[in-house]
Amino acid sequence: MAATLLDGAAIAEHVYSRVKQRVHDLRSRGVQPGLAAVLIGDNPASKVYIKNKIRACSEAGVHSEVHRLGVDRTEPEVLALLGRLNGDPRVHGVLVQLPLPPHLNAERVLQSISAAKDVDGFNWRNLGAMVAGHTLFAPCTPLGVITMLDYARVPIEGCNAVVIGRSMIVGKPLALMLIARGASVSVCHSKTHDLRRYTSAADVLVVAVGRPGLVDGAMIKPGAVVIDVGINRLPDGRLVGDVEFASASSVASLITPVPGGVGRMTVAMLIANTVTAAERSPTGD
Ligand code: NAD
Repeated sequence: MAATLLDGAAIAEHVYSRVKQRVHDLRSRGVQPGLAAVLIGDNPASKVYIKNKIRACSEAGVHSEVHRLGVDRTEPEVLALLGRLNGDPRVHGVLVQLPLPPHLNAERVLQSISAAKDVDGFNWRNLGAMVAGHTLFAPCTPLGVITMLDYARVPIEGCNAVVIGRSMIVGKPLALMLIARGASVSVCHSKTHDLRRYTSAADVLVVAVGRPGLVDGAMIKPGAVVIDVGINRLPDGRLVGDVEFASASSVASLITPVPGGVGRMTVAMLIANTVTAAERSPTGD
């Protein structure tokens, strides 16, 4: 039987409707939530991501501003801008679009965003707080995955969850979030031997690698929930995930499509985190 689609667009709409209500409440108290995005250089994909984020802000009623810096800007200049945004009371959330030009140290740049405005959730203070079980801001993509699972009422407690990918922005924080929900979590990565041994035991399988076709139906436990985080552009221009959709969807019970899956959720969670930051700000409570 074909799996049911976990429709990221529909679930994101549900998130936005709640976010809009929270924006309305903030505005009625005189607080206009605001997001500042910093775009350095002219990476075409980054421009598209920023455009999508700004459009989502405008649809949700969140003020946004984009600081576009030339590719030759120095690290002290970037840090000075972030310092100003950290201190700007109209700005509740700050993000720096990745990747950065190679002469900039991404760690130093990201760590200079104040933890209270770190709506991408990449600041070590926020990641550390998550390890300790006191999440301030969860990174947007893992938060989007958890929100999708909750929306579909997937039982996480007690399940076997497998996350493929151990990056700081997706795999690792997602594993922590699943552990916090009571799942038994295995994290697989490029050094894992016999990936199939893990995937075939997964009740919930999340794939976040960036390799088209890494997981196919034969690797999936019948009835599993499959979340495909991967985004890959094929030579023919098509956008696909890491999971071979046709074979996987004949085995899984629930599956996310690419496009139209987790990607839609990531931006929605960014806007939700920005509204949370505004609610926590001294003028927002
Ligand atoms: P990354 O390159 O930082 O990490 C990739 C991970 O995959 C690494 O941990 C690596 O060990 C693992 N890996 C590589 N080859 C493997 C293999 N053969 N078997 C098992 N594991 C392997 O990537 P990332 O930033 O975490 O992103 C992963 C994918 O998710 C990319 O396709 C990216 O475009 C996509 N992504 C999507 C969203 C979204 O909103 N949907 C957000 C972020 C990233």
